[in-house]
Amino acid sequence: MSEKWNVEEIFGKNVFSLGKMRERLPKNAYKEVVNVMNRGGELSMETANVVAKAMKDWAVENGATHYTHWFQPLTGITAEKHDAFVSHPDSDGQMITEFSGKELIKGEPDASSFPSGGLRATFEARGYTAWDITSPAFLKESSCGKILCIPTAFCSYTGESLDKKTPLLRSMEVLSEQALRIVRLFGNTEATKVTPSVGPEQEYFLVDEDLYMQRSDLMFAGRTLFGALPPKGQEMEDHYFGVIRERVGAFMKDLNKELWKLGVTAKTQHNEAAPAQHELAPIYETANIAVDHNQLVMETMKRVATEHHLRCLLHEKPYAGVNGSGKHDNWSITTDDGVNLLDPGDTPNKNIQFLLVLSCILKAVDDHADLLRQSAADVGNDHRLGANEAPPAIISVFLGEQLQDVVTQLIETGAANPVKESGRLETGVKTLPDLEIDTSDRNRTSPFAFTGNKFEFRMVGSSDSVASPNTVLNTIVAEAFCEAADVLEKADDFDMAVHDLIKKNLTEHERIIFNGDGYSDEWIAEAERRGLPNIKSTVEAASALTTETAVKLFERFGIFTRKELESREEITYETYAKTINIEALTMIDMAGKQIIPAVIRFCRYLADTVNAVKAAGADATVETELLKEISGHLTDMQKALTVLKKEEAAASSMKPGKEQALYYKDHVTATMKDLRTPADALEMLVDKDIWPIPTYGQLMFEV
Ligand code: ADP
Ligand code: MG
Repeated sequence: MSEKWNVEEIFGKNVFSLGKMRERLPKNAYKEVVNVMNRGGELSMETANVVAKAMKDWAVENGATHYTHWFQPLTGITAEKHDAFVSHPDSDGQMITEFSGKELIKGEPDASSFPSGGLRATFEARGYTAWDITSPAFLKESSCGKILCIPTAFCSYTGESLDKKTPLLRSMEVLSEQALRIVRLFGNTEATKVTPSVGPEQEYFLVDEDLYMQRSDLMFAGRTLFGALPPKGQEMEDHYFGVIRERVGAFMKDLNKELWKLGVTAKTQHNEAAPAQHELAPIYETANIAVDHNQLVMETMKRVATEHHLRCLLHEKPYAGVNGSGKHDNWSITTDDGVNLLDPGDTPNKNIQFLLVLSCILKAVDDHADLLRQSAADVGNDHRLGANEAPPAIISVFLGEQLQDVVTQLIETGAANPVKESGRLETGVKTLPDLEIDTSDRNRTSPFAFTGNKFEFRMVGSSDSVASPNTVLNTIVAEAFCEAADVLEKADDFDMAVHDLIKKNLTEHERIIFNGDGYSDEWIAEAERRGLPNIKSTVEAASALTTETAVKLFERFGIFTRKELESREEITYETYAKTINIEALTMIDMAGKQIIPAVIRFCRYLADTVNAVKAAGADATVETELLKEISGHLTDMQKALTVLKKEEAAASSMKPGKEQALYYKDHVTATMKDLRTPADALEMLVDKDIWPIPTYGQLMFEV
């Protein structure tokens, strides 16, 4: 069956893009929109009305029935409330659809059910959504029909931000201001704006829907809470970049199509390290749009999966003992006259502007490692960072051989000689060209790696929004730029001053650079000697938000107030507690109602067998031993189940906050492990036909 469409035709079909606005808006209105987009400010109500009408007409022509202010509350996912374009019919009973400028620009959703961390009393349940004009409106297609989605920021009645987008937008402005000061120092008088670009690589798992429906842990917690490893895991590593299975390929094809319609530049797709694990990478774009688009990628993955009778698992660790999923956040900063400040060029040793920028980033990452770590923390990611998996929980920067060489020389002698040449790789085959070797050789174990002309922050979890990591990155780098510009703008001898400042930054923050194996135990010990923080969990990371250093940083640049930071810390604890509570209750349910009864049935069968074998005069040693072993594990399970019930009750009756979150982390999750261990041992012993839930082997290989 061949459908007839091509990428050029469908790309951006569902987006009310700048091009469509140019076509549909009167010249003046279009100009005003572009102006606000580029320089900020507000649309006049008159223009807002014109834009709203054009947007509605386009949406309705394309089959939309509703609109929504689409926003990103602190749940980490998106929220929407649909309003139909209907109004009072006219006297003939004819419906005339309406959508005003006011409705476009501002919404007032009842915000009482979104996390606010104490920022909003229930009697002030109102929140406001405001159109982010820099992110285009789009049509979302689902079983609800077509909905016009207007990307918005979300704040409380009193103006505090209640979402992930507002601080991101603020941080982009601040970064632009400070980066402009830097490029001005180097003689750039043209640029008017500096923009962070982001390319988030998204990892995910697919699982068959029927199997998924038989596992309440997958349904309620998004990850397996029980499950023994299959005989064939990823030891063979034959899955990575392997041929894509037919069913998965069909899913990817539809996913790409849906994403292209939404203007998402889905570019690369491949199998990942674990069975049934895959990746999708888009082409990078302006940070806030990349954040919106990543939300759409996650949402569309889930929707398209169900259309293929599959489910998409975005959890960071769906299967214990198997590779988890992350989201590499590729980040760079570019002036509007086209200079990527992270591009070293062919001679980084002579590229003083690049070296200053690099030294500022090293300073920023070292000074605020705890904040970066916190920005990538979520409950699921605790199973990756600093657990039995990569990347480690310690923040360090990888530079690669060539840059490291330049940095070392600068620190030692204050100057850097010509850089190490990148080598040529001789293929040894006449018909194949020799290859230039990339000088930023890839170190896959580093959480923050320089990769040619961008940094790649690899700690972010697969299910998490990339808004917070980029907000932190933009802000901390803006601060380092600001401090550099403060010094350099006053300098009598600029060349001397910039030279000294680069050397100072590099020398003071050299400890953050690590080019070795980030997964090794030696690195953990070495990092401790260097005084680098090693923050092991989400709960421990949360207080980084409210240190005096953090409050000073964020308040100085107008990103967050102290109150907003405190509320975000509170929300982290609440979210953590709620998530673990759901997991604990799900385990209690599965253990008590599914696994233990099945094991008891099998014990009964074994006991009957022992008796029958004995009665027949044969040797029943094997059956007896098996029965004993199983009974042993069963006893352990029952004991752990009783403890878990008690711990869950104790934890859930505590006052929400840090103490409660810590109790969940230290007591509830520990008991969950105690319950899981005997259950997984039993799975290896009990008859497959009796085991009540699909196994890891089925979940990962029957896709
Ligand atoms: P990998 O080897 O890690 O898969 P790629 O070079 O394929 O790396 O890039 C991964 C992601 O990085 C893509 O989303 C890509 O668009 C993005 N990317 C590439 N260059 C930049 C840049 N200058 N700034 C931000 N992101 C970038
Ligand atoms: Mg990558």
